[in-house]
Amino acid sequence: MQAAVLSEPGKLKLEERARPEPGPGEVLVAVGEVGICGSDVHYYEHGRIGDYVVEEPLVLGHESAGEVVAAGADVSGVEPGDRVALEPGVPCRRCAHCKRGEYHLCPDVTFMATPPDDGAFAEYVAWPADFAYPLPDAVSLREGALCEPLSVGIHACRRGGVGSGDAVLITGCGPIGLTVMEAARAAGATDVVVSDVVGSKLDLAADRGADRTVNVAEESLDDAVADVTGGAGVDVVVEASGAPAAVGSAFDAVRRGGTVVLVGLADEAEIPIDVLDVIDSELDVHGSFRYANTYDVAVDLLAAGRVDVAGIVDFEMGLAAVDDAFRRAMDPETVKGMITI
Ligand SMILES: [Zn+2]
Ligand SMILES: [Zn+2]
Repeated sequence: MQAAVLSEPGKLKLEERARPEPGPGEVLVAVGEVGICGSDVHYYEHGRIGDYVVEEPLVLGHESAGEVVAAGADVSGVEPGDRVALEPGVPCRRCAHCKRGEYHLCPDVTFMATPPDDGAFAEYVAWPADFAYPLPDAVSLREGALCEPLSVGIHACRRGGVGSGDAVLITGCGPIGLTVMEAARAAGATDVVVSDVVGSKLDLAADRGADRTVNVAEESLDDAVADVTGGAGVDVVVEASGAPAAVGSAFDAVRRGGTVVLVGLADEAEIPIDVLDVIDSELDVHGSFRYANTYDVAVDLLAAGRVDVAGIVDFEMGLAAVDDAFRRAMDPETVKGMITI
């Protein structure tokens, strides 16, 4: 089978690899759609993310869906012919985190396209059947693949306790900011403010139902938030940009007693915050890392038409054009590129 392999930064090439065999409890999936994620692009450009370094050739891609073509021993609930979304992080299932249900915090998780584990820019993937979620007819393979970034949005909203009637500020409207917006509206948020510095992304957010968009390169976020909330501040801020200035503005925009969720990966690990304000305003501050127990919810929301993710895609290319696709994905105006196989 063909797989797109990253051998060193900037070098992504198709290679012939052995088609995997599904082991016990696994299904073999003919991959149909894979999203290009910011983390894939980061590995492509730099060959590492923090402590995760590409030392051996790596197959990128962790936002995938396809059709089951074979099942190993002891598989139930999924069968050949099923279309499935693949949840890319498989935990050990035995540690204290796994037992608590917070399996995304498992220290022994196998995560697609995170060194040394290969991802899904390949014709076939063998994957644990219970991390393959059957898609109803109403949900396309593309939407199935995009259950991954949607899961990040659902989890961030859960961390923030976003609920009915909430005013929510989302800083950063790349794919994560946009999926946070989808999840927030599905959870009942009624006033959704979105900020960014790229006008085309804000236009997309506005088209997709943001109640207010703010280009922070040109206008005051504080004024916009005050305008929308009558001066009170928003109930929840989800910081999805990783920009240090946006982290600061999150604490200015949240109401007293409100919640700040940090999900955007910052380039700098240390960003000053006003801890006296956190205490005095009794703010809840939460990190949000990947997701757990979200795929069923993502599939249900898509099937019910309560969220839209296919509309964030701005281009698609075949597996043979993967290198071109990555270069296009590096453009700051690109939101989401897809590889179709
Ligand atoms: Zn991703
Ligand atoms: Zn575990």
